[in-house]
Amino acid sequence: VERREVARRPLVVGVDIGGTGTSAVLFDGERAVARAQAPTPAKEGGPAMARTAAGLVRTVVDELEGATLAGVGVGAAGVIHPVTGTVLAASDSFRDWAGFPLARELVAELGVPVVVENDVNAFALGEARIGAARGLADVFAMTLGTGVGGALVLDGTLYRGPSGAAGEIGHVAGFGGLRCTCGGTGHLETLASGTSIVRSYARRSGSACDGGAGEVAERARSGDRHAQEAFAEAGHAVGRAAVLVATLLDVADIVVGGGVTGAWDLLAPAIQAGILAEPPVSGAAVRVVPASLADDAVALGAACAAWDRLMAPSTVVSSPV
Ligand SMILES: [Zn+2]
Repeated sequence: VERREVARRPLVVGVDIGGTGTSAVLFDGERAVARAQAPTPAKEGGPAMARTAAGLVRTVVDELEGATLAGVGVGAAGVIHPVTGTVLAASDSFRDWAGFPLARELVAELGVPVVVENDVNAFALGEARIGAARGLADVFAMTLGTGVGGALVLDGTLYRGPSGAAGEIGHVAGFGGLRCTCGGTGHLETLASGTSIVRSYARRSGSACDGGAGEVAERARSGDRHAQEAFAEAGHAVGRAAVLVATLLDVADIVVGGGVTGAWDLLAPAIQAGILAEPPVSGAAVRVVPASLADDAVALGAACAAWDRLMAPSTVVSSPV
């Protein structure tokens, strides 16, 4: 009975196109009511990735009898044009992705409005609306994964900035002297990404850790001092970055997600220490919390972005009456 009631409401599907996997969730405005996933055909190029995404959208819509699809939101890696939904720039791990008109292709495949958002932006919106920062108007979100991403929600809305680069905290300097993936030096990413935690551990211990940051975490929990130091340094940097956000923007609620947060037990004390070492001059209490939407965060956030666009009167009324 409950499923039939859900189906009568207009539904949007959120899609997360990640480096290895693509997932889709059917979203009823509050939560995911169906989900599906498949490997991302990143080596096959944009059209193949769009077909995979469209296939997953159909799968989750078919799962709910009578479901009417109102629109689709997609979270994807790279710089995304905020209006056209075209991928403007992307990493080399995706073939023919930069320049790919993702929104246009999906509209052609699915016949409904499609909104494409950068994946970290989508993550931030999802956590702010229905995740760990639910009910808060102003939220900063950070992702600690292969790299470090950041995004800003102000007054309940994503703030992208004129070039779409607002919130890029991973590439803020002042965090030591290591070379960053972007070519810069001393960026937050060089201490707080999963990749840098593994490198930091290798540097301290003289031994490699093939299992990634997760394995470094396990070693830290079983008493490995070098592994504990690597996480302490990462957490301290995240705490200092949180103070930076709170000082610059007067935004004191920070949600942290990404694979590295699987070691929240190791990060949290170091984050607190980093905050207490240099608290913001405003005296505001800086609150750093782990993300709560887990693997659905990007897809649900993208669905929220699509929901907003569909419900916004400005996109329904094309010209003033
Ligand atoms: Zn950098």
